[in-house]
Amino acid sequence: MNAQPHDPASVWKGLLEGNRRFAAGTPEHPNQSITRRKELQGGQNPRAAILTCGDSRVPVELLFDVGLGDIFTVRTAGQVVDSAVLASLEYAVAVLGVEVLIVLGHESCGAVKATSEVVLQGRDVLTGHQRTIIEQIAPSILEAQSKGGHTAEHFERAHAQAILEKVMQLSLVVHQHVDAGEVAVVAARYRLKDGRVETISTEGL
Ligand SMILES: [Zn+2]
Repeated sequence: MNAQPHDPASVWKGLLEGNRRFAAGTPEHPNQSITRRKELQGGQNPRAAILTCGDSRVPVELLFDVGLGDIFTVRTAGQVVDSAVLASLEYAVAVLGVEVLIVLGHESCGAVKATSEVVLQGRDVLTGHQRTIIEQIAPSILEAQSKGGHTAEHFERAHAQAILEKVMQLSLVVHQHVDAGEVAVVAARYRLKDGRVETISTEGL
């Protein structure tokens, strides 16, 4: 299906290069033309999938300086996972054939901050379905704390890593594709202050 040879490392490298352009204020805005849009009318062939937060300050196509058809994106507050998220990622991996799966946390994540206030300061748990988010981020904060972490940055990094591990643990499809060397996985964190994406961990690159 892929026109290009299988090369997860170059896919991730390309995204990091796009991020450097974005952060430097010199984006090229590739693949955003009318021609590109029409070329994709019949189907998509993205080479990367990203699970990230719904935060309005984290628009993946902008911060990686890519365009239409380049990234399959799944977003939830605090990039928490449920069966619909897992199904979406499995579709990206098994059907679309993405070569890199990225879990992207970010600086100043409200979901992580709210959870840390609940866990560390005894604030009331948020009402309604938001409880789901708190319940899923809390273990990440405790894990970071057990390793001496105490800042929002520590919690955000630990949480991105924890979600990546959770995806690998809960999705046999993703796990098998990673084991077979078909998909590389990356945990990363986007910094609002300088626009850069920092790599936390990689497997299969
Ligand atoms: Zn967030």
